[in-house]
Amino acid sequence: MTDCLFCSLSTQEKSPSFFWQNQHFFGLLDVFPVNPGHYLIIPKRHVVEFDDLNQEEWLSLKEAVKLSREEIATYDLAEAYQEIINNKVAPQSVEYCQEALNFIKNNGFKPEAFNIGVNDGEAAGRTIHHLHIHIIPRFSGDMKDPTGGVRGVMGLRQKYG
Ligand SMILES: [Zn+2]
Repeated sequence: MTDCLFCSLSTQEKSPSFFWQNQHFFGLLDVFPVNPGHYLIIPKRHVVEFDDLNQEEWLSLKEAVKLSREEIATYDLAEAYQEIINNKVAPQSVEYCQEALNFIKNNGFKPEAFNIGVNDGEAAGRTIHHLHIHIIPRFSGDMKDPTGGVRGVMGLRQKYG
């Protein structure tokens, strides 16, 4: 599976976007952050869908969500984004990382909540076919009305009530 991006990244502990790991998962900053500190939890084993995780990995995922959120809170995100920008990881990602960097320089990094989500299949928007769980830090005022959260993936169906 050497042609899988996430399989190749699972061993790149020195990359600025690689910030955490346990036995079965690792945490990687999304280089196109939709919000500052947006990262992915990725199984080290090449699995494609959520249901492909085995029992041991399921238990490990619970720990991964908790521990990676603790870790991201103390990680030097400003330095990481600066390095990602300098390394030109992806030319199109510079704008995203610069915006995240500016936010952190101005506000620090104190997430108040998180959206946690999986694009579990191509029709759901998955483009890298190795399971990854998005963890998106949220801050009061980061959008006009956050009501609906992940419901927003369906555009007009985001709002309810
Ligand atoms: Zn893979």
